[in-house]
Formats: sequence, C-alpha cells, structure tokens
Amino acid sequence: MQIDRRGLILSLISGFSIACQFCGQAAVAFPKRERRHSSDSDIGGASLTEGCASTEDGVVFFGAAGDNSNRPGVFASSGNPFWDHALGQEVNRSLKPIFGLNPDFCYFDDSTGGNAFATPERLIGNGQGTVALGMRLFNELIGKFLGSSSISIGDHAAVAVLAHEFGHVAQFNIGLPELPVQPRELHADYLSGWYMATRARQLMGFQQVNVMEAAQEMFDIGSFDFTNPSWHGTPQQRLVCFLSGVRSELMIKDVQSAFDSGRKFLGI
Ligand SMILES: [Zn+2]
Repeated sequence: MQIDRRGLILSLISGFSIACQFCGQAAVAFPKRERRHSSDSDIGGASLTEGCASTEDGVVFFGAAGDNSNRPGVFASSGNPFWDHALGQEVNRSLKPIFGLNPDFCYFDDSTGGNAFATPERLIGNGQGTVALGMRLFNELIGKFLGSSSISIGDHAAVAVLAHEFGHVAQFNIGLPELPVQPRELHADYLSGWYMATRARQLMGFQQVNVMEAAQEMFDIGSFDFTNPSWHGTPQQRLVCFLSGVRSELMIKDVQSAFDSGRKFLGI
C-alpha cells in the first residue's frame, strides 16, 4: 500500500508548527549503557535496583513486536545523565501531575526489539505500577529523528511513547472493560495525543512541542500484522487516534474526561 505519510500527517495536523525539544537543550550522544549497581544514583525517587517483569499478562508493550516471554531487566538510569535529567523532569513534573498518577519510571533492556511497556506491578519502587522505556527504542528515536530532520532530535517522540504508557496506567487505575489488545492500544494513543497537546498549551503554544515528530512515530509503529494477537493497529489507526487525542485537548482539560472521550471516540 502506497501512503503519503508526510502529506497525511501534515493534512491532519495543519496549523501545528514544529520546534525544539521540551528541555530546550542541545542533544548529546546517547552512549552504550553500562550496567549499574544498587549503590548508584536514584531517579524519580525510586531506588536504583534491577528487577524483571514478573508477569506476562500484566505487561502492556508500546509496539506489537514486544517479546512478552523475554522478561526484561529494568534500570533506574539510562547511563546518560543528560537524558536521565530531561526525561526524569518530564515524568515527575508533567506526566505524573497531568495524568494524576504516580507510577515508577525506569529503563529496560529491549535489545531484542525496540519497545516500551507499562505494568501495574511495582518493578523498581513503590509507585502505582511501572512505566519503562526501552533503551534500544530510545536510541532509535533519537537517531531516527535527528537523522531525518535538523529541527528535532527524537525526545518528543520518546515523550509521546511515555504518555502512551501513562495512558495504560490510567487504564489500570480507572478501568476499562475486558477488551482485545488493539482498542486498548488505540485508546492509549489517544491519551498520548491529549497529553502532547496539553504540554503544548502549557509551553505557550505548539511551537514548543514537536507534535509532528510524535505523530510520525505513531504512524511508523503501526503495522498490518493482523494475525498477531498482540497487533496494536494500522499506521493510519494509530496516527488518527493520536491526532484525535491532540484535537480533544481544545475541549478537554482533565484526564478523566480525556479518558472517557477516548472511549467514546473508539466506541469502547
Ligand atoms: Zn501500549
């Protein structure tokens, strides 16, 4: 299928301009992470320990490629102080208060396939479950958007991924009816879009948030793997749900209303 991705995205988000990363600082290289030990520094109040996802059913991955049988080791630090600080700030100062949730945030080894996940389990601290960003996915996002554009470096896409995972934590806490994987994932995409637009408004307009970078990643993570039970949605479905969440922010200012609006949009 031939898809004009840029045209599709631009037509859907016309009016949103593109600008720098959340933190306003220059990008730095993301080095290969060294394995840390429990005596190393903390992030987000969680002690730096290594753990592993202890259940397959309770782990919700960002991409359908996630290998649920390979229980990931989790880490409180990426090994890069710049990114630890930038993402830690975004998690603690924005994602947690905007979603009204307090999950622990960590990284994990996704070397077998770039991904992120959320689980109601406490893997690294005492929060409301755990949100984990794969270091391979993060590296890929930084490299991908740095390579394709000089005006973005990939951290907005990474934040959109984290917002998707916070959407799952909202699902764990607010509750959804028993649903297949796909509508649950598209609902999290919707909440990710709502969060990115909320941040854009906080930062005095869409010039401060690269919605297009995040939308591009949502499109790219989609697939046509219809027979896969963990299939999340087509590129178009993921993009449309994300951008519908973006648009919903014009009317919706609280997470419960965004949650309900996403359900209504998806008919779930
Ligand atoms: Zn997901």
